[in-house]
Amino acid sequence: MIISLVRLPADGRRFEHRYETGELDLGAHEFRLAAAPEVSGRVDRTGMDIRLRGQLRARLLAPCDRCLTEVSFDVDAPFDLFYAPVPADVEAGSETELQERDLGFSFYEGDSIDLDEMVLEQLALALPTRVLCRSDCRGLCDQCGADLNSETCRCAKPMDPRWQALADLRADERDAETNDAETNVDAPREEEK
Ligand SMILES: [Zn+2]
Ligand SMILES: [Zn+2]
Repeated sequence: MIISLVRLPADGRRFEHRYETGELDLGAHEFRLAAAPEVSGRVDRTGMDIRLRGQLRARLLAPCDRCLTEVSFDVDAPFDLFYAPVPADVEAGSETELQERDLGFSFYEGDSIDLDEMVLEQLALALPTRVLCRSDCRGLCDQCGADLNSETCRCAKPMDPRWQALADLRADERDAETNDAETNVDAPREEEK
């Protein structure tokens, strides 16, 4: 959804939008939408600067970092953002722009603000940096992929290569001893003949 700034009244304007399923392009974001986001608020202008504030509601699904089970998050977050017209010397997508965006300050181009972009950013911010289905999630076995929360698998822990070398050496020694023993058993028989 695009918010038009054309003929924006001096005392601002209210906006409200309920997204349809599939309307928001999630791109490379890690989450899915369990319920269509709803956004409402006010857009105000001071000179060329625009202030966008309001409330964003949504329900997200994101995979647990350890076991990949989807965890749902209710988002009910206020936002209060400032937009300035894009300066001639700032390229879109440049690092400067991204840093300023983190501080609730951004640029707009032309005479509109892309609400979708803002909504996606706010949803991404609302997600915890570490998504866990529960704090003691045991995750998946890194060898067979079993969910260790609900089953135990038979995979042994991978052996440290140094221990493996030692184990090989022992096995060689055992083989050598067995060969000696066989020779000893065979030797008296030959004498009997
Ligand atoms: Zn988990
Ligand atoms: Zn396993």
